[in-house]
Amino acid sequence: MRPCKEHDDLGCPMTRINRVNGEGPIPCSIMLIGEAPGKTEDKKGKPFCGKSGSELTHLYLGKCAKIDRANVYVTNLVKCRTNDKDRDPTQIEIDACSHLMFPELVDVKPRFIGLIGRIATRWMFDDNMKMEKVHGFGYKFLEYLVMPLYHPAYGLHSTSMMRWIMEDWERFGKMVRGDTSVMWRERSCTYRG
Ligand code: URA
Repeated sequence: MRPCKEHDDLGCPMTRINRVNGEGPIPCSIMLIGEAPGKTEDKKGKPFCGKSGSELTHLYLGKCAKIDRANVYVTNLVKCRTNDKDRDPTQIEIDACSHLMFPELVDVKPRFIGLIGRIATRWMFDDNMKMEKVHGFGYKFLEYLVMPLYHPAYGLHSTSMMRWIMEDWERFGKMVRGDTSVMWRERSCTYRG
């Protein structure tokens, strides 16, 4: 492991094997934003390529949302693995890294954004956002149609959560296809960089 040199100036304390950049077509109408790479992602330098990545690709995106991952740009809010227990990123780490999302959004030009899990959702909306209240709803923000989604990793720990996660991803697929059954909510978003 070595320090995250790119972010030394911003005081990022992270160590890593690889910085894990986003992956997928550019431009791309669908973007997924996760929280931070795990062990396999850190090793391979690719987002969502470990266990939860496999669930994401085949079950949640493929089967539930009916979207081929090849047509999706996948990235993480925090580009380095947090530690060997994959703890949540701290606010300092999020602040040091999340500015990288802005050029990514400009390059990828997504129309649809899936916020995977609480960390990405709170970054785009607000710090006190409760996933139970917002997951699976569509939000219009700037030129984006955004949906907070439960993280695939929850499904690895609890099979009862899996049903909720699957429903979220079904709704995400519907949002992308313009299905009128998607429920929309108003919410102001606060980007931080
Ligand atoms: N979890 C994430 O949020 N991102 C990854 O890349 C892998 C697991």
